[in-house]
Amino acid sequence: MKSYDLCECGAPLRLVERPTPKPAGTEVLLKVIAAGVCHSDLHISDGYYDLGGGKRLMLADRGVKLPLTMGHENVGEVVAAAPDAKGVKVGDRRLVHPWLGCGECAICRRGDEQLCRTPSSIGVFRAGGYADHLLVPHPRYLFDIGSIAPEKAAPLACSGITTYGALKKVGPLLQEEPIVIIGGGGLGLMCVALHQAMGGKAAIVVDIDAGKREAARKAGAKAVIDGNAPDAAKQIIAATNGGAWAVIDLVGASRTVQLALDSLVKGGKVIVVGLFGGDVTIPTPSLPLRAMTLQGSYVGSLTEMAELLDLVRRKGAPDLPVGTRPLAAVNEALQDLKAGKVVGRLVLTPAG
Ligand code: NAD
Repeated sequence: MKSYDLCECGAPLRLVERPTPKPAGTEVLLKVIAAGVCHSDLHISDGYYDLGGGKRLMLADRGVKLPLTMGHENVGEVVAAAPDAKGVKVGDRRLVHPWLGCGECAICRRGDEQLCRTPSSIGVFRAGGYADHLLVPHPRYLFDIGSIAPEKAAPLACSGITTYGALKKVGPLLQEEPIVIIGGGGLGLMCVALHQAMGGKAAIVVDIDAGKREAARKAGAKAVIDGNAPDAAKQIIAATNGGAWAVIDLVGASRTVQLALDSLVKGGKVIVVGLFGGDVTIPTPSLPLRAMTLQGSYVGSLTEMAELLDLVRRKGAPDLPVGTRPLAAVNEALQDLKAGKVVGRLVLTPAG
């Protein structure tokens, strides 16, 4: 099989050929049809998260080992299933839930594998879909995509489940109050679409790039705001009639989290998803006096993936701009994403 592997942080992925694995036990081997290119892959290839103040969280210290085949938004076709892999057969097209834990600890047993202390997520801690084949340890991680086009379904594995999980954290006010989404990239446009599918009242999108703001408007945002405007917080407060009840920050930089905090109404909530990095200082009296919640959100659980696919079956697949590229163009795709040139999602098509 062929894969494009991260062998050295900051360097282009390298083409590697190795024997195609044979599934054993409960494993399933898929031919990769669609593999989304997520901004998280840029952080992974950098090798660290920016903690602000010159500090870094090294991915190697989190257990990420090189060489690594990245790619965690995958749809594949089953080409072989080991004897104990029940419920799938050769030819099935499946979305791969990549947020795997050890499967045995108390956290995994209660259904939060994505929060496992020894994660083995596909494309992060074990080989992912920037390859022509992908080995999945158990069929429970595979979801039927029905008639959805593979390149439209693949982003559900990360941008879909992540924004679905963040939107759920808004709670019942989602249907009553406008929400603010910071970042109109791959996650942002997905978030606007899922917000609508979940019956959300109105989405206001903040982005520093005019093209992304335009795309957000086309995707259904009620208003868009330039994140670089000196009065961005004032504009958000005006657009939300006095302050936001919920801000989902899909950038997660110092200034976006600060903007979110500055834009909240009393009792409001900031949900941080983005990993661009940085730090913020919060006066502690503000937490009780403004009754604010600052919450992080990390991908989603297997149960949430099933809920998301059920939502998609009922309301239709999010109609986001998706560009396709051959697997061999993975390095150009990552460069374009880094340069801010991608509207929506780029999806690699290894089998194309
Ligand atoms: P993307 O590159 O497609 O989009 C990022 C968007 O943010 C772009 O439109 C860009 O113009 C905008 N942006 C950048 N700086 C901004 C600022 N200061 N103010 C407003 N907008 C700004 O990226 P993506 O794939 O959507 O991923 C977004 C982030 O979410 C990444 O950091 C990624 O690693 C992270 N992420 C987190 C999780 C999680 O579970 N917490 C899951 C997936 C991705």
